[in-house]
Amino acid sequence: MGEFIKVEINFSRCTGIKGCGGCVRVCPVNIFVENGSNPAVILENEDECTLCNLCVGACVHDAITIRRLYEE
Ligand code: SF4
Ligand code: SF4
Repeated sequence: MGEFIKVEINFSRCTGIKGCGGCVRVCPVNIFVENGSNPAVILENEDECTLCNLCVGACVHDAITIRRLYEE
């Protein structure tokens, strides 16, 4: 029961670490890491997300979605 957060990267929009990497730089709780040439979400850290939206603001390609979900 409770609330959880899902952080998703749309890889058809993301231009990768070399061309951008904004999400990895701005997240204050290190939810994004470099995974070769792409960013990746550390799934076990998703719950640390503070919903600050810094990553969404940094992502000029509109590739990041933060969702607040509820489970019963
Ligand atoms: S909303 Fe904030 S805390 Fe959550 S993943 Fe984005 S930058 Fe990190
Ligand atoms: S900020 Fe957006 S475009 Fe840039 S690396 Fe992260 S997900 Fe990709």
